[in-house]
Amino acid sequence: KPKDYQFMLRLKQPAGELPPDLFRLCDDLSAKHGQGDLRATTRQCFQIHGIMKGNLKTVISSIMNIGSSTVGACGDVSRNVMTTPAPFVKPEYQYANEWSKVFAQLFRPMTPAFSQIWLDGEKAATVEYWSKEVEMHNVDEAMTYDSGRGIILPDSTEPLYGDRYLPRKFKIGVTVPGDNSIDIYTNDIGCVVITNDKGELEGFNVMVGGGMGRTHNKENTFARAADHLGYVPKEDMMELMKSILASQRDHGNRDVRANARMKYLVHTLGIDNFRSLVESYFGKKVQPWREIPEFKYNDWMGWWEQGDGKLFYGLHVDNGRVKDEGDFRLKTALRVLVDKFNLSMILSPTQSLIFKDIDPKDKDEIEQILKDHGILSIEDVDPLARLAMACPALPLCGLAQTEAERRMPSYIERVRSVLNKMNLDDEEILMRMTGCPNGCARPYMAELAFVGDGANSYQIWLGGSPVLTRTAYPYVAKMKDEDLEATLEPVLAMFIQQRQEFEAFGDFCHRVGAEAIESYASSYNLG
Ligand code: SF4
Repeated sequence: KPKDYQFMLRLKQPAGELPPDLFRLCDDLSAKHGQGDLRATTRQCFQIHGIMKGNLKTVISSIMNIGSSTVGACGDVSRNVMTTPAPFVKPEYQYANEWSKVFAQLFRPMTPAFSQIWLDGEKAATVEYWSKEVEMHNVDEAMTYDSGRGIILPDSTEPLYGDRYLPRKFKIGVTVPGDNSIDIYTNDIGCVVITNDKGELEGFNVMVGGGMGRTHNKENTFARAADHLGYVPKEDMMELMKSILASQRDHGNRDVRANARMKYLVHTLGIDNFRSLVESYFGKKVQPWREIPEFKYNDWMGWWEQGDGKLFYGLHVDNGRVKDEGDFRLKTALRVLVDKFNLSMILSPTQSLIFKDIDPKDKDEIEQILKDHGILSIEDVDPLARLAMACPALPLCGLAQTEAERRMPSYIERVRSVLNKMNLDDEEILMRMTGCPNGCARPYMAELAFVGDGANSYQIWLGGSPVLTRTAYPYVAKMKDEDLEATLEPVLAMFIQQRQEFEAFGDFCHRVGAEAIESYASSYNLG
């Protein structure tokens, strides 16, 4: 368990952006004041673990003064706004990036308490920085942006949050049609940019009421995939976002914290009544959801052309841990690359990193530097590891019931051996693991998930979609660590026998359901 006087600090990095100076600072701070490594989270920001209480002020003020922020990275407010990490110069990708920063700014807590405590009352560089940043991005009509700017005046208190903030944390994601790299259905609000034939922004499809956290043995807590609320033209988008937030602020459950996320309000009212509630703030009708292409999952790893002659490179990071260990020197490699090429990074929604704006002539040298530091090229990473995520859990998280990040590598190896034994070598299964049911690594969307439910035991979840559009169901509770192979083998045997052509493992489990799998497994003889 973490000691009381150590802290974890999480940055707020809208759209996951990590300019070179910010990386250098985080690298230095983690070495000097943290436990030496950095952790890329599932919401596109860095965490620094192991900061002693006495050093918090130095660390926080350094981060604020370089123009980044920690405001709203935790707490019952809008958290880090996510967006697809692919830095394509295509219009829809640029809109998604710009608007994610606008929403981050729109819902940024305004209390002066933060600067009073951590900056001795000085105005942080960050207020300056982000307003310039958003201005620079020229968010289409000034009118849309101006209505947002009205609430970022430094003297405002909390015009949107009021005096009690929100009932619970609040998560927003923005993506483009077809790109579900961000697990869009797990957000309180998910936005999809809609452009016309000329690539101009028309508006947004909006979904509401996603969320992962639950509690074991409490049936009135559950993971939920968002419902489609509908479409709004871009000029109404800021008002709609505020109306949704206000609906949750005023009607979310403030009595029972376990039921305080907006997903429970959407669930209780039903999407149609929830839409009416939002419209009562919005003053207009929300239009019907626009047809868009089906979502696909892409982690954007490896080399890609950005579309402006530059390249981007997605670098897989096992469970987001940026560290040096023996011959594996990822943290040093990143520093060498940032110092040599002054590269900007984007943190991905799956705990990995993307270097952007790479000159093609530097590609070979970058690959060589990575190789020299013991980092595998993406082709050499096991697809199971590439798809997997795990939360920090023990020893870093006070809520953990068992291991996750430290256990996941061995589970990947063990699942790989079972697959190989059953001639399923080519099968790619999206696995996730958490140390408790809170669900920080979004386990309930995975095809196969391990959710800690006791010392060295896990609840198994099956049936999420490989494109992350629905929740899974619980299959077995309290699976002991040593029973992993015996638990999985019957399920995989049934999959081999009964799968449809090209059917993914998660889709198969979803189609046949828990009961059929249980019944098959009960009469299966382990090989
Ligand atoms: Fe901690 Fe639970 Fe979140 Fe893991 S899922 S980081 S154990 S709260």
